[in-house]
Amino acid sequence: MASQSTTAYEIRFSALKNGFHYYDYALDHNFFMRFPESLIHQAMIHVRLCLERKTREMVLDFTFNGSIHGVCDRCLTELDHPVEAESRLLVKIEDEPVENTDQIWYVSTTAWSFQLSDYLYESASLLLPLRFVCQADQQSACDERLSSWMSGNTSAIAHTPAVGEQTDPRWEKLKQLKIN
Ligand SMILES: [Zn+2]
Repeated sequence: MASQSTTAYEIRFSALKNGFHYYDYALDHNFFMRFPESLIHQAMIHVRLCLERKTREMVLDFTFNGSIHGVCDRCLTELDHPVEAESRLLVKIEDEPVENTDQIWYVSTTAWSFQLSDYLYESASLLLPLRFVCQADQQSACDERLSSWMSGNTSAIAHTPAVGEQTDPRWEKLKQLKIN
């Protein structure tokens, strides 16, 4: 697959007539690779952009839909975390642009385009959950894998869990219970 150049995320607004314009973006591995600091590596997020061009401003409505791929923090199973979000960006065309905010950007009347890749990257990064774990309907399977992990029953995991077999006093108590 050819890598997407930055022009793919450029809005050439000077050529846009007043009215609605639609764009589609696919934020995948190739997209996130452009940002070395990204915490998202594998994903498939579809972005639908509805841009309303007005004479002195543009209203950009984004819809994010898809999933972020990662590893469950608890049971280490690979999973796709579904994501869904909407956001709005206002781009004002000013003779003397002032500093951008998160929701309002300013472009000069002499400009003819602006770049959306950073905005898409930052918006997608906000969709990353604080805890990357199995979904609620997968919770019992996640618990099972976790406890199997903890007790070292999983031969698939080469690393031997150091859940203090001899040192942890709780473990000793458990052994006592079994003996009794
Ligand atoms: Zn899990």
